[in-house]
Amino acid sequence: MNLKKILALSLASVFLLTGCAERREAAQQMLENKKMENRHEATTFAMDTIMTFTVIHEDGDEIIIDAEQEIRRLENLLSVTVENSDISRLNAAAGKEALDMHVDTQVLLQAGKTLGEKTNGMFDIAISPIVKAWGFTEEEHHVPTQAELDALLPLSDPADVILKEGTAYLQKEGMAVDLGGIAKGYASDKVAELLKEKGVESAIFSLGGNVYGIGTKPDGEKWEVALANPLDANDYCGLISIENQATVTSGGYQRYFEENGKKYHHIIDPATGYPAESGLLQVTIISESGMEADVYSTALYVMGLEKALEFWKANGGFEAIFVTEAGEVIATEGADACFEFEGRDNDFTYRVVKRG
Ligand code: ADP
Ligand code: MG
Repeated sequence: MNLKKILALSLASVFLLTGCAERREAAQQMLENKKMENRHEATTFAMDTIMTFTVIHEDGDEIIIDAEQEIRRLENLLSVTVENSDISRLNAAAGKEALDMHVDTQVLLQAGKTLGEKTNGMFDIAISPIVKAWGFTEEEHHVPTQAELDALLPLSDPADVILKEGTAYLQKEGMAVDLGGIAKGYASDKVAELLKEKGVESAIFSLGGNVYGIGTKPDGEKWEVALANPLDANDYCGLISIENQATVTSGGYQRYFEENGKKYHHIIDPATGYPAESGLLQVTIISESGMEADVYSTALYVMGLEKALEFWKANGGFEAIFVTEAGEVIATEGADACFEFEGRDNDFTYRVVKRG
């Protein structure tokens, strides 16, 4: 008898000797091991940020390459730092002419406008001139004068982004669009779609903090994402469980600079042109739509807790976890159902807000 046969026979006898439960357990273990063999991971840099992928699939490596290509395709359309992107061309033609946009750019501009209206202007795709005035675009930070901001505020109205028959037009010279608060979320939806099309049933990826979990982990448990502690980059406040969902966090601590002892961060209140000071340190959204999660994490951060909760009650379709300057972690009831709070050791307190 050759070795293979001996092995097969002894395996068979193991199965014969063991009971039904053990057999099922052994089969389960073999299945899990098989899935672990199919675990593929990769890290890349795109859209100005770090992206990580974990894909459970026998063709995982090739599928991740396809995902990266899709992201680069979108980056080449949407990025303000890519010279001939749709958005760069659109911005260069501000006040001059309407230009044809690729269908992805059209969809995103339209979604940006619609979600802007829905959030009562708190999400603003035309905020770029103000973001630039604060130096966040070129990373040459400084506090603009009130006169500068007063001149720029009228140039940051999304109503002046005109979309018509596949074209886009910025009505005023000096206007500019920046999709930094929505493009990664949109890309995460497109990547999730692509992975599912390729037969992936288990994966998690993060496009610069825009996390999307497909299916569950190989062991059948939901994917877990740490909720960042906004006061300590090496710590977390709890674990969020997701299944076919996105989760995105925005916070003033993620990008900021200091001038004369004061901190200025990158999320701008479109009403004032100043970094939003809403009493929130951080907003996390959980939603089936990565794009909405991206937009809402920014918009609800600007709104502040009270208005954000009103918005959640009025709209739904997503859940949220807030961290306030007072050290409170506040979860909507749907978020509470998939969140394990672990912030007590850091003096955070926890409460749940119900819809009714
Ligand atoms: P990040 O993309 O840095 O993770 P966000 O998703 O919160 O963070 O988006 C913030 C980015 O969006 C900023 O860097 C800026 O380019 C842009 N932005 C800032 N304020 C707003 C706003 N009120 N509405 C839309 N975009 C904004
Ligand atoms: Mg965002």
